[in-house]
Amino acid sequence: MSNELPKTPMLDELEGGPWPSFVSGLKRLAQSDGKPYAPMMKDLLGQLERSYETRKGYWKGGTVGVFGYGAGVIPRFSEIADEFPESAEFHTLRVMPPAGMHYSTEILRKLCDIWEKYGSGLIALHGQSGDIMLQGTRTENVQPCFDEINELGFDLGGAGAGVRTSVSCVGAARCEQSCYDEARAMRMIVNSFLDEMHRPSLPYKFKFKFAGCANDCANATQRSDFAVIGTWKDDIQVDQEAFKAYVARNGRKWMIDQVITLCPTTALSLNDDDTLAVDNKSCVRCMHCINVLTKALKPGKERGCTVLIGGKRTLKIGDLMGTVVTAFQPLKTDEDYEALLDLARRVMDFFIDNALEHERTGEMIERIGLVNFLEGIGVDLDPNMINHPRTNSYVRTDTWDEEAQKWRDRHPGGEAAHATTGGRAAE
Ligand code: SF4
Ligand code: SF4
Repeated sequence: MSNELPKTPMLDELEGGPWPSFVSGLKRLAQSDGKPYAPMMKDLLGQLERSYETRKGYWKGGTVGVFGYGAGVIPRFSEIADEFPESAEFHTLRVMPPAGMHYSTEILRKLCDIWEKYGSGLIALHGQSGDIMLQGTRTENVQPCFDEINELGFDLGGAGAGVRTSVSCVGAARCEQSCYDEARAMRMIVNSFLDEMHRPSLPYKFKFKFAGCANDCANATQRSDFAVIGTWKDDIQVDQEAFKAYVARNGRKWMIDQVITLCPTTALSLNDDDTLAVDNKSCVRCMHCINVLTKALKPGKERGCTVLIGGKRTLKIGDLMGTVVTAFQPLKTDEDYEALLDLARRVMDFFIDNALEHERTGEMIERIGLVNFLEGIGVDLDPNMINHPRTNSYVRTDTWDEEAQKWRDRHPGGEAAHATTGGRAAE
């Protein structure tokens, strides 16, 4: 077959400008001499150009899968296959990435070789869902391709009304801010819900995401039904000598402008001797000061996570951040991780029993009320769950003393527990 590409004047426009263009990537694959996928990519370019001309998409769905799975393959059949027969079928395999997206070069090479053998060579690392997206293969190649990547140690991810592929930040392996073992938590929870992932049977999709601190590099708070955000319960660790070195290098004004006054709860003050004072009871663990002064400040030693439920951008009722349901869950021992899994199971069971069809967790909570949701999953109300403790002027005070006493009884050493709200918890 000739190496000539179809005429694509509209797509060519997308190759201009300073940024790498996906069109150049598609053309490179289409011109890969001798590769089995080159004809497919030529017809794909032709169909894409047609879409730009007519402002219409020409893909329709269907049913394609692998044995034993009801999810993980996104079928795409072309509606103009008679004109572009080589790209008549262009299915996507959603493959779960390793926790923290840690790969060896060897594994990536093997994955690419398998995909060049069975598919288009086109890979998105990673899709919006967090998956490795192997884009473009024919129906007859789906099963053998899956068998080989499965042999390599990979599994298909979620699609449809089931548990979706999970994401964790790079976390403890490489990041000093990590407050728990994200990879362990993610692997443990995903493995426990594999049935719900591979055989979708939920009211709607459900996403777990894991971030080691409130910087939330996994976008868990905004984009997951069950967000696990690392935090700490005791005091921020301060190296005063390193702090003084920052002041000496940048000046007191810089320190006040860039760190002290940007603390959202005014928990920081700069002493006359250029040391730092932290009012840890007021700190909401937002990570700002630690991010700026990495050599002087560290999260505390008593570490764990905050769990937020119901985030999603965008729901039918608008954008929602996750709501704090567990202000501090220690994550050190096997029992701690089991307790997190137990909470996940209770939330999932409640979601399955109570959500309407096509309703995400956040929408369900909005419909039935947070108190009913908490009662359903067996979690006690906690003052840390208030979304905006410093801006909500409507505070019920009737029976307050009794409620406060109940809370103190549940939290011996009570006052200190006030300081356990994760940074995102206060949003
Ligand atoms: Fe590091 Fe926190 Fe980002 Fe995870 S979320 S990679 S722990 S900064
Ligand atoms: Fe203030 Fe955030 Fe630092 Fe806590 S972590 S002291 S809230 S800037």
